[in-house]
Amino acid sequence: MGVYRSGARRLWRSLVALAFPPVCGNCRQVGALLCANCRAEVVWLREPLCKVCGRTVSRPGLLCTTCRQQRPPLQRIRAAVLFDGPVPRMIHQMKYNGAFGLAEPLAELMVEAWPTWQEPVDLVLPVPLHPERERKRGYNQAMLLVRHLCAQLGYGTTPAGVRRTKDTRPQVGLNQTERLQNVSGAFFADPALVAGQRILLVDDVCTTGATMIATAEALLAAGAGSVTGYCLARAM
Ligand SMILES: [Zn+2]
Ligand SMILES: [Zn+2]
Repeated sequence: MGVYRSGARRLWRSLVALAFPPVCGNCRQVGALLCANCRAEVVWLREPLCKVCGRTVSRPGLLCTTCRQQRPPLQRIRAAVLFDGPVPRMIHQMKYNGAFGLAEPLAELMVEAWPTWQEPVDLVLPVPLHPERERKRGYNQAMLLVRHLCAQLGYGTTPAGVRRTKDTRPQVGLNQTERLQNVSGAFFADPALVAGQRILLVDDVCTTGATMIATAEALLAAGAGSVTGYCLARAM
């Protein structure tokens, strides 16, 4: 059954690709959702990074000044790539122009970088959108990334594990303190689904980590064993 299904899916995909050849989400070249030229422009995230929040620091193993003042509750936040090169445009297309198919090549970048940041994981969860926002967009881009990640890495997900209960204003243009206040108390996690679990929390873009921190607080309050953040792209 599984073999038949995956064979049928491959056939269907190649038929779809014949009828609608993929177009690069960045440069529009026909042939792949992320063409080889644009993929070569991707900037991979590398140490030295703050051992908790993932900001750039001078040597590996250090804490950044923000985390020294107040250490976030997560194990750590890591990202696959920098929010640079072809990635910002790809993410914009995925989120705001309905190009949800771009989640696949973008999640591939996360799969490729995972061995660098790998940790033990019981459950993968997306940072949730408010239901109203998700209804308008039609999907949660973080959930699309989670689905591809789980399929490739063999992890499980329970999207209902954490919900966004407050529709907060976008974080763009806010400083770190304002960002933390903006998303504080915006999430609720279900103890029946997350208690005792080592959770990998996934989002598309991470800037200060405020949204990840607020989501992690809800998960830990519901008894999660640990929370590690993993983003597609880090904006520095
Ligand atoms: Zn391209
Ligand atoms: Zn830090």
